[in-house]
Amino acid sequence: MPRVVQLEKPREPVEVVDVPLPLPRVGEVRVRVEACAIGQLDWNLLTLDAPPRLPLVPGHEAVGVVDAVGANTSFTVGERVLVTPLASSCTECAACRSRDVRHCPHVQWRGMHVDGALGTQVLAHASSLIPLEVPMGLPPLPEVLTPDLAAALAVCGGSLWTAVGAVRSLRLLQPSRVAVFGVGGVGHLVIQVARALGHTVLAYDVDPQRLELAKSLGALPSGGAVDAAVVCTPSTQALQQAVRVLRGGGRLALSGSSPTGRIDLAVADLVWRGITLTCGLLGTREDLEEGLALVLTGKVTPKVETLALDDVPARLWELRDLGFAGRLVALL
Ligand SMILES: [Zn+2]
Repeated sequence: MPRVVQLEKPREPVEVVDVPLPLPRVGEVRVRVEACAIGQLDWNLLTLDAPPRLPLVPGHEAVGVVDAVGANTSFTVGERVLVTPLASSCTECAACRSRDVRHCPHVQWRGMHVDGALGTQVLAHASSLIPLEVPMGLPPLPEVLTPDLAAALAVCGGSLWTAVGAVRSLRLLQPSRVAVFGVGGVGHLVIQVARALGHTVLAYDVDPQRLELAKSLGALPSGGAVDAAVVCTPSTQALQQAVRVLRGGGRLALSGSSPTGRIDLAVADLVWRGITLTCGLLGTREDLEEGLALVLTGKVTPKVETLALDDVPARLWELRDLGFAGRLVALL
């Protein structure tokens, strides 16, 4: 019988519960989860007075192996897949037709609108899974993933996708100075992605421990003007500071969100200095594949704390107000 982490009441700890084995319907696939990451979106759920649905299984990014398929899918049992946050979409709008599902007006996010992957098995629409193909020239993945590799791959389907998407949205055509604000689950990946692409990275955070992490990843201390900035925390102060350190004509990517966050920026600072602001989570399909290649070639190493499913409720509750400068990853 599958075991899942479930939120049953608002603002209360999650629980590990047994659920009936789900059978895939037309277009669906059942995945035996190997590792599922837990991030800010999951923490946010614990703080809501009215979560989108209850009960709800959190977990929007994972890696696993197909263990049952419904009709009309191209997956086969035994195939390894990334489980992405985009659970389903209308398939017909302009965004869906151009494979940019995150901007579909009817998109449903896993772990929010539908049950997530934080359990031994998850039912997923086939279109929300990415076959895990190893880039050319790299050795194939082992049949049984090591804990480190499973945890790193789990982060590829969401956090790293967002990190690559944010850096690529800056459209930097030559080596540049990039400021990263907020060295958390996404921010520490943005630092690594930007450095892997040849940029000089400066890190900003209010937490000395997170700045130490940034330094260990090769980021420089804050100081001086930058060509571009990625703000990974939904903080007005961080955004205001990012605008201040950007050169005229610089680009700013905002990839941190919260249910209640507000931003307050001086319009004149943006308009007269020609600052371009882009916002978003995840990225293009190419961004996802680029992130996967960066992990499998060792150019990006997600900082993770791994734990067993049974330990998730206590750890998640303990961290709900603190966050974690990396990602928690449940190994199944
Ligand atoms: Zn659509």
